Formats: sequence, C-alpha cells, structure tokens
Amino acid sequence: AVPSATVCQTASNKPSCKPAVFIPVDRAPEIQEARLKLPILAEEQSIMEAINENPVVVICGETGSGKTTQVPQFLYEAGYTSSTGAIGITEPRRVAAVSMSQRVAKEMNLSRRVVSYQIRYEGNVTDETQIKFMTDGVLLKEIQKDFLLSKYKVVIIDEAHERSMYTDILIGLLSRIVPLREKKGLPLKLIIMSATLRVEDFTENKRLFSAVPPVIQVDARQFPVTIHFNKKTPLDDYSGECFRKVCKIHRMLPSGGILVFLTGQAEVHSLCRRLRKAFPFQKNNTAGDDDKEESVEEIRKFKKSRKRKKAMTLPKIDLDNYSVIPVDEGDEDRDAETDDDVAGSDLDLDLGDADSEEDSSLPLYVLPLYSLLAPEKQAKVFRPPPPGTRLCVVATNVAETSLTIPGIKYVVDCGKVKKRFYDKITGVSSFRVTWTSQASANQRAGRAGRTEPGHCYRLYSSAVFMDFEQFSAPEITKRPVEDLILQMKALNIEKVKCKIDFVLRHSLKCLSIGTRNKHKFEQQTAKLSCPISPLGRVMATFPVAPRYAKMLALSRQHDCLPYTITIVSAMTVRELFEEYDRPAVSEEETAKLKGKKARLLQMQRIWAGQGLLQKLGDLMVMLGAVGACEYAGCTPKFCEENGLRYKAMLEIRRLRGQLTTAVNSVCSDAGLYIDPKMKPPTEAQATYLRQIVLAGLGDHVARRVQAEELLDDKWKNAYKTALLDEPVFIHPSSILFKQLPEFVVYQEIVETTKLYMKGVSAVEPEWIPVLLPSYCHFGKPLENPPPSYCPETGRIRCHRPSVFYRVSWQLPAVEV
Ligand code: ADP
Ligand code: MG
Repeated sequence: AVPSATVCQTASNKPSCKPAVFIPVDRAPEIQEARLKLPILAEEQSIMEAINENPVVVICGETGSGKTTQVPQFLYEAGYTSSTGAIGITEPRRVAAVSMSQRVAKEMNLSRRVVSYQIRYEGNVTDETQIKFMTDGVLLKEIQKDFLLSKYKVVIIDEAHERSMYTDILIGLLSRIVPLREKKGLPLKLIIMSATLRVEDFTENKRLFSAVPPVIQVDARQFPVTIHFNKKTPLDDYSGECFRKVCKIHRMLPSGGILVFLTGQAEVHSLCRRLRKAFPFQKNNTAGDDDKEESVEEIRKFKKSRKRKKAMTLPKIDLDNYSVIPVDEGDEDRDAETDDDVAGSDLDLDLGDADSEEDSSLPLYVLPLYSLLAPEKQAKVFRPPPPGTRLCVVATNVAETSLTIPGIKYVVDCGKVKKRFYDKITGVSSFRVTWTSQASANQRAGRAGRTEPGHCYRLYSSAVFMDFEQFSAPEITKRPVEDLILQMKALNIEKVKCKIDFVLRHSLKCLSIGTRNKHKFEQQTAKLSCPISPLGRVMATFPVAPRYAKMLALSRQHDCLPYTITIVSAMTVRELFEEYDRPAVSEEETAKLKGKKARLLQMQRIWAGQGLLQKLGDLMVMLGAVGACEYAGCTPKFCEENGLRYKAMLEIRRLRGQLTTAVNSVCSDAGLYIDPKMKPPTEAQATYLRQIVLAGLGDHVARRVQAEELLDDKWKNAYKTALLDEPVFIHPSSILFKQLPEFVVYQEIVETTKLYMKGVSAVEPEWIPVLLPSYCHFGKPLENPPPSYCPETGRIRCHRPSVFYRVSWQLPAVEV
C-alpha cells in the first residue's frame, strides 16, 4: 500500500508543477546510516529544487556517489509518483537495471511489486509499480506504443556518459516529448545522470532543449590512487598477466579488496578458476567452489538443451557434423539477444594450469561479475568477504561505472574492452577486444580510492596509455546512418530528420560517401518522411545495415537464408583470397607466385559452379570457397594450398555464427543452424539469390554500355552505374570479367587505374522493374504495375512482365 502523503512547506512559491507533498519512507537504521554517508545526500535539496523548477536537469557525480540508488528515492519522497504516473529509470546494462531495483527496494523497505525492473525478456512490474528500472531499449519500445510516455511522471536517463545508441536516441526523443507533455498540461520531468562532467553535448546543443538545463555537480570524496604502469605491454596474454599481478598483490601487499578488469565473461571465469586454484578455501569455506560446480553444471544443462532443440527442429541433420560457433557477446551488448557464452569451451580449456602455483597465503575470496551473471551471484560482491579472506572481484567493465563494489583498494586493469564494431560497408556488427579510452581507464583507477587511498596497476605502459583515445566515441556516430533511420522509423518516427536533429547531427559525418558521388544526403533524406513499409519493419529487426537486412528478410524463402548469411559475412570480410600479384624478390619466387595464382584461378573456376550457378558470379565463388574450406575443416593448410586467407575464413565463420544467432532470435521459427559443410545452392536457389542480392543492393546496379551508345573509346566494355558519371569496369579478378553480362549488381567500386566493380553478379533486366520499381522510370506508363515483395507471404513474386521495359533509373535512395 502507498503510505499516506503529508503536505510539506516548499521553499519557492513560483507556480510550478512541483508536488507539495512528502511521502515518508521507513528505512532500516543501518541503511539510513550508510545512506547518510553518500555524497549525494548533501545535495538532496538543490537537486529537488532544480527538478521542481526545471523540466530537464543534468546530474553529474563520480561513480558511487549515490546517483542511481538515491535520486529515485528523493523523487518518491517528494511525491513524484501517483496512481497515474511512475518514476522510470533507464540503464544501458541489464545487470544494473536488475541489481539497482533490488537495492532500492531494500533501502526503501518496499515490496518488489512497487520498486520493479523490466529488461528485455523478464521483469517483475505490477500495477502497483511506482519506481521502474529498465534498460534503455525497453523504454524505446514503450515510446513506440505511447509516444508521450503518459505512464511516467519522471524519466531518469542513467549513465548518459556511456553514450549508448539507445540512450542517445532516447534523449533526442525525450527532448521532443517534454514540451509536448507540457503543452498537454501533464508535465514530464527529465533527469540525465552522468558519471563525468563531459555533458556539453546535452546542455550546449541548442537544438536539443529550448532552455539550457541546469547541471548539478555532486562532489565525491575521492582518495588518492597511485597509478603503476607496466614497463612493457604484454601482447596477447593479458589474462595471464592479470593472474600474476593478483598473486603478487595478494602475497605482498596489506589487506584490501582487489578488482580486476577483463573484457568478457569467458575470460572472467577462466581467471576466477585459476585464482581459486592458487589460493584455495578450506573445506568449510567453499563459496567460490560452489560457483564453479554450478557453472559447470549449468553449461552441461545448456549444452544438453541445445542439442535437444536442434534435434527437434532439424530432424535430418547429422549431429556429428555440427559444431556450434560460440557467439561472442560482450557486456556492451546490453539488450541484445544473447547466447550466453557458457556455451563456449573456455571453461574446459586450461584445466590444471595453476597446479604448481598453489600457495600457502590467506585464502582469496574470488567472485566473478559480468552482465549475464545470475542476480543472486551478482549480489555477493556487495557483501563483506568471509573473515580471514581477501575479496577479489574479477569483472568486465560493468564494474567501471554501473556497479560500485565496496572495499576495493587495488585495481588491476588489463586496459582492454570488448566493443561492438560496425562494418562500414555491410553494417554488420561484431565484437572485438580493443584498447579502452583514457577516460574509462581513469574511471577504472578511481574504483580503488573510494574508502581509502588505493593503487591501480595498469598492465600496459604509459606510452600505450598516451595513445588511447581520450573518450570513446558515442555509439551513434559509428552506426551506419541508414540503419539509424530505419531504427527510428520502426519506432514510428516518420519525419526522422526534423525530429531527431540531435541524433543525426552526430552521424552526418558518417554520410561522406565521397565527392564523386552524386547521391547526396538531401536525396537520401527526401525519402525520410514516408512511413515505414511492412518490409522495412521486418528489416529493422535484423542487426545489419538495411540493404543487408533486406536481403536477409527476403531470404526466408526457398531455404536461402544460410546462403545469404554466408554472402553477407563474406562481403563484410571482403579480401578472401591471397594476393599473388606482388613483386617477387627472386626468379624462384616469381615462379612460385605464378603457380599459386594459377592454382587459385583454377579453384575459383571450380567454386563458380556450373550452369545457372555461374550467373551468381563472384558471390558464387565466395559461397564455393567458404563451403570448400569448411568442408576441409577450415585448416591453415587448406587455405594456404588454395589461395584463401586463413584469417578471413575464421572471421567469416565467426560472423556466420553471429548472424545465424541473430536471425534465429528475430525469426524464432527459422530454426537455423550453421552447417559448416554447406551444400552448394541449387540452380533455382542461385537464381533466387541473384534476385535477393539485387533487391538489397538496388543502388548498385550497372548496365553495360551498348554499341550504339558508345560515346568514345574509354566506354568500351564499360558499365554505367546509377551513382557515378564515369565509366566503371568489371574487375579483372572477377569471374565475370570476360562474360560482360548486360546488367550486373556489384558489391563495391574500387579505384585503381580505373573504376572497378568487385563482387559482381549477373541480373536479368526484367527483374529490375519488378524488384526495384521505385528505382526505375519506364518508357511508357504501366498498365499493371509489376508486383514485387508480398508482405503477407514474404515472397518475391517474379514472373516475366509481358512488355520488355527499357530500364533506366533515377538516382536511388536507400530504401527504408
Ligand atoms: P552511482 O550511481 O552514483 O554510481 P550508486 O547509487 O550505484 O552510485 O551507489 C551508491 C552506493 O550504494 C555505493 O556505495 C554502492 O556500493 C552501494 N550499493 C549499490 N548497490 C548495492 C547493493 N546491492 N548492496 C549494497 N550496497 C550497494
Ligand atoms: Mg549509477
């Protein structure tokens, strides 16, 4: 039940929307005591005054100052909840949403029915919920249903410094929603919370908020932290280096908790195991080992359930030929569908590696911490370690700002972070480990000085640190812009450009397609004010750039998905084949290179297939090469002998795994699997694939210049494209180099001595008006416009139109 409200005096008598109430909260004495020590408590009054007087407020405060746990409580006490509106708090990470809702419920002595959370697939929200923690993705989905967010009286955007894409879009949208709510007489308060003072993007962007929002700075006591750099930077084995460093600290330095930063869940588990082996617990003190047993058991269960699922959906598949490619999801993958990486084999890898290092020191109480860890296990890091032990938390960067662990005196920082990368051409995103930024390295160091002076051990040299980027760039600047537009349209934001200036302002840079390109931004945005099509809606759910999303969406027929996934992966990786045209140092080497090149050409002809398969051109060669390589087990030897780049092949395998998982999570009925030994497509499938690629790469169509159109010699064997005025040619390395089909679709244009198209497939002219009607204008008006994609059946209808259209095409826009 909601406690009865008592009216209290308010300082200002300006007419404002401020609730003049005080809702008492019954906190336990020890909680109240701990709260009072938090720096943010000193600012309660100024924070609440600012919120009462302003629609938008920015709060900056060092991690651990109490923003996430206390601000919702201030608002609750001040009466910012009622039966008609709640307080919503968004977090970029699931782990924070769950754990903070738990903590706040406990501090306020309120039921989880009142203080609840919602993450993508789970939550405990009820009719009584008044404080709701959620991931930013969840709030975006709610905006889709109710643009005014009428359920909320206050929305708090937490961890805004992370600049996650969803957070940025949310702030852009909320900057429009706040005035709309004001107009309706139902004001909404927006609070932006950040762990750094770098908030100019939110405050100084005049297009964002009409009045500059006040910034409240919370001063946190921070004790000095001594930074120790490594003299040398280890190349690969930073995990091993972490192990050695923790051992050293534990053996030689006075008491105090250790916090280790690694990049992913598998690494965290593996280091935990090594440390537990080196500094074991006594029999009656097995908190750590419990964990291990459980996680091994979990993996077993997980693997079993996976097998069962496979067997059900795909009865004909030979289970022994099947290998799951573990999906590598970082903690940054906050709200995406995740295939828990316990499915990987890391846990089985280095059994017994620390045997010789067993030690007689104090036991080390080792705890893992990462996004997908079960909440009960996450909660352990907040409790004091068992007496006579030292706490050691091995974490991913969730411990950087999302969660504050008490009692840390030593920080060990590997300097790396797992980040999402977007391929510029395909927009395919994947995770890679890279150096972190200076700002986040400093955040990590700061974790050591919360209760007393501390030490931070950086496992890299100061020279390397100086090379780090200062801040990580906002995610939105890295995503392909068509993708953003599509995502926003899927949120029913039709006039993307005028509504989300803020968002686009950052990404305009990404649009530099080159001066040569006539295809200007205006032309692209001209299309922005139309509503999203049903196909567009499907496309928006795929985690790749729209043109590839379109290909995937259309491939759900005729079993084309595995091929399209492979094509998109191979396009992302691009340089599949070894380059043998390099100058050689000796005659012997020249001969060797020549031999290798001949062998590669011979193989490419084989991979290009027979009959109609050949028309798929370079894409068929890609499919054939990947299939053959996987058939041979994807060994370095096979690659070396056949002119394939081994690293490229491994990367394709990884991307195929990621895309398959993504597609499965989008189309739960797809039941896709990765069969490494993929059979070549049938002739019919190859023909469908050509149409699918054409539909996706509509602006990459080229037509051979006909004899009667030859302007001059430089147009001999040349093609005209929609995007360029100059002649372009099929690249000599293309399997279609000699065939010169009338119409082709290409993956990219590269410029060497001339402009060359790479990744070329032949297309039939009559497909173009059918699949890309908006890209064409026709010689005479059509009586029956040709049918194209049918959203109800998800099929491409492609019968031959009775008239042969002379196709020329307008400058295409990216279709969304
Ligand atoms: P901020 O959001 O400013 O980084 P928080 O509100 O997350 O700060 O944390 C404030 C304090 O609450 C920290 O000292 C932290 O250790 C403590 N805290 C947070 N969650 C828990 C929990 N589940 N159990 C115990 N203490 C917690
Ligand atoms: Mg916080």
